[in-house]
Amino acid sequence: VPLSDKTIGDLDARVAVPAYDRSKLAASIVHFGVGGFHRAHEAMYLDALMNQGEALDWALCGVGALPHDRRIIDTLRAQDGLYTLVVKHPDGRLEPRVIGSIAEVMFAPDDPGAVVDRLTDERTRIVSLTITEGGYLVNQVTGEFDAKDPSIQADLAADFTGGDSPTTVFGFIVAALDRRRRQGRAPFTVMSCDNLPDNGDVAKRMMTAFARLKDPELADWMESYVPFPNCMVDRITPVTTPEDIARLAEEFGVEDGWPVVCEPFTQWVLEDAFGEAGRPPFEDAGVQLVDDVVPYELMKLRLLNASHQALAYLGYLSGYRYAHEVAQDPLFATFLLAYMEREGSPTLPEVPGVDLDGYRRQLVERFANPEVRDTLARLCAESSDRIPKWLVPVIRENLRTGGEIELSALVVASWARYAEGVDEQGNAIDVVDRLKDKVMAAAAAQKDDPLAFLRDRDLFGDLADVERFTTAYLAALKSLHEKGARETLEAWSNQTR
Ligand code: NAD
Repeated sequence: VPLSDKTIGDLDARVAVPAYDRSKLAASIVHFGVGGFHRAHEAMYLDALMNQGEALDWALCGVGALPHDRRIIDTLRAQDGLYTLVVKHPDGRLEPRVIGSIAEVMFAPDDPGAVVDRLTDERTRIVSLTITEGGYLVNQVTGEFDAKDPSIQADLAADFTGGDSPTTVFGFIVAALDRRRRQGRAPFTVMSCDNLPDNGDVAKRMMTAFARLKDPELADWMESYVPFPNCMVDRITPVTTPEDIARLAEEFGVEDGWPVVCEPFTQWVLEDAFGEAGRPPFEDAGVQLVDDVVPYELMKLRLLNASHQALAYLGYLSGYRYAHEVAQDPLFATFLLAYMEREGSPTLPEVPGVDLDGYRRQLVERFANPEVRDTLARLCAESSDRIPKWLVPVIRENLRTGGEIELSALVVASWARYAEGVDEQGNAIDVVDRLKDKVMAAAAAQKDDPLAFLRDRDLFGDLADVERFTTAYLAALKSLHEKGARETLEAWSNQTR
């Protein structure tokens, strides 16, 4: 029987279901981007609160804004907003739980006016977003709002006060805020939950810049009155596969058109900067509410994200294809921990309430979870966005303070070696990078000029001029060429022992 309010009482006892009366829910958070991550994270935290008898008036109204969102919205509508969240434990155990916090769904392309009305409605107190990093229309070169992006042209030209309907999240939010302002009402809070540093600040800058092109007074009002809290979010949520759907039906008898799978770990550090519209008591569900998200963000970027880079290229070159294979290999696990302890962590400010040693060990365990099946190809993609944002700042800080840089130098060298486009078995590597041509040309040139890759100032600043760094980098690159990734790590490990 397909999942719905009617059938939920008949589910296998091993499947947790909402302990609250869903007819009592009132939706006051409108969410754009009802993808996998939102359903594994924010919706799950709200469901946890509801199970404790709290936040029944903070249910979700999920909105699909893009044409391809029709399928998820139709699926959820047919299931009364219910879906199954399946936690995948490292030992292979599945822990399914039906989430009930989505009380309404809307598909914007069918009736955009209804979405503006819903956002303008006093019941709407928070608008939350998981619209991907690219959804914020940040120009990669200038860092400013990209008013030339094709997707935003219709909303830039539209006259919302004259009755035109928006087509993008920018248009919906700004049109509704304008109506609230004109009616003398309080705005809602805009809460970005996307994976980008300073996500609230970025959302604020981009949305206000869009508004300014339409109406400077509205932009000023938004700057003064609309809260955009920052947050750090973390939970690995891979794309749901047909096997996931089949396994849930076979092992637990739950017929769910689109369940979500995720790892056991979850974290949400949220800036407590909500306006008069208020917020749910998130802290009661384990969300860390803080004054400043920056230390937590740095911790994630310099430990989790930089470690992903530390395992990706070295692992790939030595023949692995999945993150868990690398993290389960003691040689690599030791290397990851050493990078985090000696080079990543010393550059962090104090991170209140976090046991860094525990966090580092837990990271290696999370990476080693075989059920998540994260591919090294995914982690190796878009390196030219990642290494400069995640690892180069660690190197710079350690050069400044006299800290260690050897392991980071090896990671940068492993990217340079990977970008040559052939692995150690002689197979071609499909390098995926928006700067692919440039980085591959530089990697090809390092046969004659070993510093060729490092000389790219857009990516590395002046690192090629800093002798302490180039000494370590050249030694690492030479070893990768002569001995390969595994032997290079073995030599390092023997040396440290
Ligand atoms: P997903 O593809 O399952 O869902 C993304 C949703 O956003 C879809 O509904 C899509 O239509 C919508 N969307 C995309 N671009 C949009 C736009 N411009 N305007 C409006 N809606 C748009 O992806 P996901 O796994 O849910 O990830 C979404 C985001 O969540 C990521 O980009 C990241 O910022 C954040 N995140 C994901 C993970 C993860 O492990 N998946 C972990 C932490 C954070």
